Amino acid sequence: MSIPVNKNDVVTVDIVGLTHEGEGVGREQGFTLFIRGALPGERVRAKVLKVKKQYGYAKLMEHEIASPDRVDAPCPIYKQCGGCQLQHMDYAAQLRWKRQHVVDNLVRIGKLAVDGEAAPKAGAKDGGATDAPSQGAASAGGGILVHPTVGMDEPWRYRNKASVPMGMGPVAAETIGAAGASQLIGGFYASGSHRIIDMDACLIQHERNDEVVAQVKRIGRELGVTVYNEETGRGLLRHVMTRVGFVTGEVMVVLVTNGYRIPQLDRWLAGIREALPKVTSIVQNINMRTTNVIFGDETKTLWGSDVIYDELDGIRFAISARSFYQVNPLQTIALYRKAVEYAGLTGTENVIDAYCGIGTISLFLARQAGHVYGVEIVPEAIEDAKRNAALNGIANADFEAGAAEVVIPRWRKEGIVPDVICVDPPRKGCDPALLETILAMKPRRVVYVSCNPSTLARDLRVLEDGGYRTTEVQPVDMFPWTVHVESVAVLVRE
Ligand code: SAH
Repeated sequence: MSIPVNKNDVVTVDIVGLTHEGEGVGREQGFTLFIRGALPGERVRAKVLKVKKQYGYAKLMEHEIASPDRVDAPCPIYKQCGGCQLQHMDYAAQLRWKRQHVVDNLVRIGKLAVDGEAAPKAGAKDGGATDAPSQGAASAGGGILVHPTVGMDEPWRYRNKASVPMGMGPVAAETIGAAGASQLIGGFYASGSHRIIDMDACLIQHERNDEVVAQVKRIGRELGVTVYNEETGRGLLRHVMTRVGFVTGEVMVVLVTNGYRIPQLDRWLAGIREALPKVTSIVQNINMRTTNVIFGDETKTLWGSDVIYDELDGIRFAISARSFYQVNPLQTIALYRKAVEYAGLTGTENVIDAYCGIGTISLFLARQAGHVYGVEIVPEAIEDAKRNAALNGIANADFEAGAAEVVIPRWRKEGIVPDVICVDPPRKGCDPALLETILAMKPRRVVYVSCNPSTLARDLRVLEDGGYRTTEVQPVDMFPWTVHVESVAVLVRE
């Protein structure tokens, strides 16, 4: 096909969809243009920025037709930051889009039949099995029931954790007493670069996290702390991580440093404790590698506890610095309750919780199961999980550190027979060896919690081909104003 547009052309295009990154998808004479900030249903004028063989990028200039779902982004740094991608879209429309995004992945990648959707086409070109069996007419029922996304009543200030890169530069305009000169700042990377822009408020963060970051920056400036420079590899402070327990109010501050020694450590600690009385744990993580990964391997407690505590649905959790803990605690309760409901427990079942983190889902399940076995790759998280079981007087849960795809096959050899397996893998989805083991263990049900609809769909296809049927999927909005979609699916053995 010849390419109908050139760089710098100004074109008028209809927007037909949103990519998984939140860009509007426009078509110009059959050629696809991605246009940041444009919404489905809009007609926009856009200037072509970049042309590739199959697609191009264009910049939104003006609207000829604006979507009724368009709203003004409330955050003043929305466009520069890139942390949120959908602040220009009405919240209810976002929830509808997230459900549809899950559906589209199930149909296109998983070749799965979804109630109310056209049946998936065998051999469709965009990934997945090419010889999928005919699924019949989905809209006739019998396909997967994908529920409306569970949204938040108050979808702001929902995050319990912030990881903020530190740098040198001009401080944010709003900072009181700010001078123009370059000094210690912290905020976000300007989109498409590693230049740090100072930030003093993030509308999706708990206010306390904003306050912690602001105070740590102030103390750092007063003490003349050096800041890590990616290019030279010199300077001390790399990131500040802060996590707040929504129920307990406890706060952990983690200073990620390029080196062991923190000059004037006593003044650091005194400064933090004085300005932030809710801080119960100050931790140092040492990361001396040239990497984008935030945390290094070594963590040491500088003051206070090794963990902070929080509570979800009446269960108390100890959370250490490097352990995974869901960032939106309100929605996490909705998600976990749904996972437990989908597990269909009566009090006698053996349940495996793979990718269990600090044992959150495991302990929710343990309240209704005979016995729960949790497995997780981060050893500190398993320490937390054991501590959490004890903390809540839960005796029917065991935890083991290791890769799920290694440990669970071993459990199988040892004779553990699960009635239900729950998985909650990272974005890349389940390891194929784990899926194989699940099929070999033949649990009555599989509950799949996923933060990535495309790997969810891929893995559901494998389980379906192995004799399971996906009956329901519940999307839950854990990350309002961003393109991220969490969902929980239930599969039953045919
Ligand atoms: N279910 C937990 C954690 C989910 S996040 C919760 O809801 O809090 C996914 C977890 O999988 C992380 O804790 C990560 O450390 C862990 N993980 C990543 N790869 C793994 C693997 N191969 N085997 C076991 N756990 C793994």
